[in-house]
Amino acid sequence: MIAHASRSLSIIGAGLAGSLLAILLSRQGWRITLYERRGDPRVADYESGRSINLALAERGRNALRQAGVEDEVMARAVMMRGRMVHPREGEPQLQRYGRDDSEVIWSIHRSDLNTTLLELAEQAGATVHFHRRLHTVDFDAGYARFIDDRDDSPHDIRFDTLIGADGAGSALRAAMNRRAPLGEDIAFLDHSYKELEIPPADDGSFRIERNALHIWPRGHYMCIALPNHEGTFTVTLFLPNQGDPSFATINTGAQAEALFAREFADTLPLIPNLEHDFEHNPAGLLATLYLDRWHLGDRAVLLGDAAHAMVPFHGQGMNCAFEDCVALAAHLDGGADREAAFAAFQAERLPNSRAIQAMALENYLEMRDRVDNDDYLLQRALEMRLASRHPERFVPRYAMVTFRRMPYALALERGQRQRDLLVELTRGHQSLDTLDWDAVDATVRERLSPLPADA
Ligand SMILES: Cc1cc2nc3c(=O)[nH]c(=O)nc-3n(C[C@H](O)[C@H](O)[C@H](O)COP(=O)(O)OP(=O)(O)OC[C@H]3O[C@@H](n4cnc5c(N)ncnc54)[C@H](O)[C@@H]3O)c2cc1C
Repeated sequence: MIAHASRSLSIIGAGLAGSLLAILLSRQGWRITLYERRGDPRVADYESGRSINLALAERGRNALRQAGVEDEVMARAVMMRGRMVHPREGEPQLQRYGRDDSEVIWSIHRSDLNTTLLELAEQAGATVHFHRRLHTVDFDAGYARFIDDRDDSPHDIRFDTLIGADGAGSALRAAMNRRAPLGEDIAFLDHSYKELEIPPADDGSFRIERNALHIWPRGHYMCIALPNHEGTFTVTLFLPNQGDPSFATINTGAQAEALFAREFADTLPLIPNLEHDFEHNPAGLLATLYLDRWHLGDRAVLLGDAAHAMVPFHGQGMNCAFEDCVALAAHLDGGADREAAFAAFQAERLPNSRAIQAMALENYLEMRDRVDNDDYLLQRALEMRLASRHPERFVPRYAMVTFRRMPYALALERGQRQRDLLVELTRGHQSLDTLDWDAVDATVRERLSPLPADA
């Protein structure tokens, strides 16, 4: 093992997790160097003008708070109170996420957030090298080679420790896996996605309710739309890869327009560039990445999507990656040697990443298929009622994941018990009026212990 007197760490990837981690560690006195494949987003707009947004929840906000950057990010965030569900026919209905406006999520611009975090990382003392794509690593000698994709030139560095924040297709993970297998298993979803846009109205205002996450659930597929502070909405169409309709049958802009006219009729007049955008924006694959190991001794460790990419249906990938950053920074500062710190980080975070990966997969079914179904609506009404009658015992799973910071694994386990209870208590009922509330309350007390005070 190497004596790490230098307290220097090299982070691969200056995306969301890499730049937040750089802020946290630089402020703890570490000498941080970041290597990023792409160019500086402050110079060239790397999303070619498209607004891609993300839902930020309490776990992510807490990490931003720890890094002292919460206010800067929240200044441009748009509040989303709940799901605005658009049925095929009839008026859209808002399903609140929480009890009131203290329990909401926030839509933020991915590129704005990345730029803000990068700037703050540099201010905190980190050095960022752009146009450096990790290519190969010699872990024994402590050498890594990067390529500048503009001219294919190689750039070699010496390192003590590499931290992989280089996303779902992580080159560091591939290098570690070649050296000692990480137990990698990638499960692709048989659905993909495409992003479209609703521009602002002529007077600059939002064309649909701004403070909501809009969903058009259609069984095997769906559309969602999240607001951006400048008045646009980023629309994401999720479709199967095969079957009808699917990305195999909807190939052209005209076919996409026909699909929207039939299935998402109220959105059609709102997306003027549908044909063009459908043909020009790439379809993204969706997958869950499982690993058994996240570190290679004291030489390398993975976090964020590089360690546990998940499908986006709980809006937690970035939130979870940000929680990883806080946890890794705490373990590195805990006085243990690096290998022990990485092992403790993995022991804490790996089971929780598995839990949110499972909940994200389940949420897809809920979003596209259940949010407008009668059984679900009755169970959800009971869930809200029990949450207010027994706030210390019954916290809806969505709230445990989104508004609290209890371990994801605990949210998964309690959520399952609560779900069973809701199914059992509503069986044979069409409305909450026919429930025997004394019996319901007794069952809740018997089956759900009070949650720990800090959960
Ligand atoms: C459609 C969709 C919607 C989503 N919505 C949400 C949401 O609402 N809320 C939420 O919390 N999460 C959401 N996510 C998940 C979220 O985007 C990811 O979890 C998050 O970006 C992970 O951050 P990261 O820093 O680990 O990886 P990334 O953000 O992917 O950053 C990786 C960085 O590494 C760089 N890089 C890659 N390879 C190399 C290399 N070889 N060398 C050097 N640099 C390299 C990349 O250029 C990039 O800058 C969504 C994901 C998708 C696909």
